[in-house]
Amino acid sequence: MAATLVLHNARVITMDAARPPAEAVSVEGDRILAVGSDAEIRRYVGPGTEVVDCRGRAVLPGFIDAHCHVLAYAASLLSLDCSPAAVSSVADIQAALRRQAEAIPGGNWIRAVGYSEVDLAEGRHPTRWELDAAAPDHPVRLIHRSGHACVLNSLALRLCGIGSETEEPGGGCLERDLSTGEPTGLLLEMNELVERAVPPLSYEQLAQAVGLASGRFLAAGVTSVVDATHSNGPAEWELLRRLRQEGHLAPRLTAMVGFEHREEASGWEKDSFLELGALKIAIKELGGGIYPEEDALGEMVMEAQAQGWQVAIHAVEERAVAAAASALAGAVAQLPRQDHRHRIEHCGLCPPAVAARIGAAGLVVVSQPAFLYHNGERYLRQVAPQKQGYLYPLRSLQRAGVRLAAGSDCPVVPPDVIPGLYGAVGRRSQGGRLLPGEEALSIGEALAMYTSAAAYASFAEGERGSIAPAKVADLVVLSGDPTTCPPDELLGLRPEMTIIGGQVVWAVGR
Ligand SMILES: [Zn+2]
Repeated sequence: MAATLVLHNARVITMDAARPPAEAVSVEGDRILAVGSDAEIRRYVGPGTEVVDCRGRAVLPGFIDAHCHVLAYAASLLSLDCSPAAVSSVADIQAALRRQAEAIPGGNWIRAVGYSEVDLAEGRHPTRWELDAAAPDHPVRLIHRSGHACVLNSLALRLCGIGSETEEPGGGCLERDLSTGEPTGLLLEMNELVERAVPPLSYEQLAQAVGLASGRFLAAGVTSVVDATHSNGPAEWELLRRLRQEGHLAPRLTAMVGFEHREEASGWEKDSFLELGALKIAIKELGGGIYPEEDALGEMVMEAQAQGWQVAIHAVEERAVAAAASALAGAVAQLPRQDHRHRIEHCGLCPPAVAARIGAAGLVVVSQPAFLYHNGERYLRQVAPQKQGYLYPLRSLQRAGVRLAAGSDCPVVPPDVIPGLYGAVGRRSQGGRLLPGEEALSIGEALAMYTSAAAYASFAEGERGSIAPAKVADLVVLSGDPTTCPPDELLGLRPEMTIIGGQVVWAVGR
């Protein structure tokens, strides 16, 4: 049988325990036909076969980003960049806003994204008055890089109907000036209220943005993504479907479903490029408190468990992680179910006893190793020294029997996988500083987080996440072999070709 595509002269890292590294892969249509030596695979080459000489480079299963936010990431690419890479002070933010205000007519919203108060020279959030000084005639929404907070200028506050009398919704916080009671512009966990006032991007704008986002995923070697947005409902599902059908979204996408949409989701139409994922519950974390609180969370999880859902809970801080572990472990104990694969998303601060609990309950943790790289300096400054040892404790979780998968959480950080591998293996920040704790993984374990284990976390390991006959032909060619490259040289690796369903969808210089 002739293949449609053959990759040869490669170092094929299969990510399948039963299959050692090979030299070549053949593909027929959208599936992998065979994996083996150059000599074994040569016989699949026919007159119509596209043959790629990998010149010794590595071939891996296409990377899976097990936790990201596609529409928010896409929108961020059309927004004013206020990330630490672009601005370093409130004055820089003001200058950027001024330029934007001059470029678009007054009254139109200015969307700015990515600021991080700890990375600003002032070490604090900007205020509404500082935004007013730069753009008084445009409503401004400046979104924090976490996505969980934003600063509005005075016009935007007015359009959102927010004043000194406004009461916070459950789990939300409106910062106020202590002497006057006036909102300072900083809103925590109040996105829903703001989104009612901000006009959505048009479909055309979104399509353009998703096209850009899609290009970034492909250039990162990412062939599947899981959209973990907790508000996903029928409108988002339809939008993603349309974006996919009209060719704007290239990677396969699994969309989680917001808890409040659990009833509707059974009727949504799926295919091999758009699948339904876990039921997402977000724990809002504010000043040591959590919302929903433990009892309410336990009831939500029990209901989802009874309905047969895979549950994914967003939990970063220590109390939230403990609450998520308890709720999921409790539901599994009360109502045992085979192969539930319930997930904790992030699991940022996880002391050993909680890691043991997560392991004993058979839970999956979807972590963000690239945070260690991008945020490492901040963690060293901000996280209490006695807690730094169990910050993203990948090794301890692994040892406790937890299946570990990885996601970028973009737009929080870019979707690139290489910094994540470096973070997981080196546990080093962008500035090269080592984070405390014996928590580093081997490169094989780190790669699994983005391939086989990421597939497992979405019940997709029968289809993707490793290179084996009959699996979908989603592949990435890397400039070098991560399994033999010295850990401190990992950052020099680059994706050079990305293949989805047997089609070369991206390549350097193509
Ligand atoms: Zn997220």
